[in-house]
Amino acid sequence: MRRIYLDHHATTPMLPEVVDAMAPFLREAFADPWIAAHREASEAAVAVEEARERVASLVGARRSEIVFTSGATEANNQAIKGSAWARKPGRDRLVTCAIEHPSVLEPAAWAEREGLSRTVLPVDGRGRVDPGAVRRALEAPAFLVSIQLANGEIGTIQAIEEIAGVCGERGSLLHVDAAQAVGRIPVDFRALGADLMSLTAHKLHGPKGAGALVIRRGVRIEALLHGEGQEKGRRSGTVHVAGAVGLGAACAAAAREMETQRERIEALRDRLWEGIREGIPGVRRNGDASVGLPGNLSVTFERVSAEALIQALRTVAVSRGSLGSSANSEPSHVLRAIGLTEEQADSTLRFGLGRGNFPDEIDEVVERLIREVGRMRALSPGA
Ligand SMILES: *Cc1c(COP(=O)(O)O)cnc(C)c1O
Repeated sequence: MRRIYLDHHATTPMLPEVVDAMAPFLREAFADPWIAAHREASEAAVAVEEARERVASLVGARRSEIVFTSGATEANNQAIKGSAWARKPGRDRLVTCAIEHPSVLEPAAWAEREGLSRTVLPVDGRGRVDPGAVRRALEAPAFLVSIQLANGEIGTIQAIEEIAGVCGERGSLLHVDAAQAVGRIPVDFRALGADLMSLTAHKLHGPKGAGALVIRRGVRIEALLHGEGQEKGRRSGTVHVAGAVGLGAACAAAAREMETQRERIEALRDRLWEGIREGIPGVRRNGDASVGLPGNLSVTFERVSAEALIQALRTVAVSRGSLGSSANSEPSHVLRAIGLTEEQADSTLRFGLGRGNFPDEIDEVVERLIREVGRMRALSPGA
């Protein structure tokens, strides 16, 4: 049986054009762009700068504002720790929200262990942060507000522009984790009004281990990695040349094809939800159906164990509702934050559709879901 990959929020396959763009820098062009005295080195330097331009162009930033990192985890850590280390006296608070990725929540917890204060804002039933709540939280001065652009479990998109307005008034920096958004929906760093923004290549068909932190011109944060001073002193260490080039190629592909892919993927997602809703009683859709990521569908199947359903689906790659929950059996902090019970969270699947999916796959998944959910409920009636 063919495999059907519906887990694009976890990671995405590299596009052939991304692999092709990277290949020369894994083979012959091995020089270090930092030591740009000879021809090979300058070739690498030119490629890295071209990649920087492509990233900047996709996200509406300046080339000089892009700092290459090993991914969004590093970018989020740099944003939070770097702004904590560079904070002004009296600004000892960090504000974030309950449905952030662990690579934001854990550095926030670190900040608290370091003696700073942490405010974790709740979200509503659709996963939205109330900009009014940000305003109230900022009555006490904060060095940073960190709110994601789009959620990888339930697809909710936050009102970042409004939140940015509040941060501007209160003199707090705003960091936006855009790892799930870049390449999927239009993202404009300037229009969002953010000071710092994280992204990662492997969520948009680029390589793993490559990403960027966008640092708005004029914003000063401390580096996470100190050393030879690469990336204008903002991130020392020899840049991952092939990774940066791959990220650039993925951004170029997204700039070219995002609009058509977005419509196509959204239609597939709607087809999947219609099929589930019509074919299976006792289901609930989570997140914000009106404004959400195009490929995201989070569904709670009453009286069904998500774990068992994933096993039964075998050749269909989906996740439990919770991101990264395969490694630990904790119910999703995101699903709990939007009001699901532990039992509902344990009955939730996250479908992440992407550019590799086609209508016949969706129809097959619907058919198999109808069959498997029916079978599992028949085995444990009333459970
Ligand atoms: C995947 C993801 C990350 C982590 O990115 P890595 O590059 O894997 O470190 C951070 N935040 C969000 C929202 C993500 O989806």
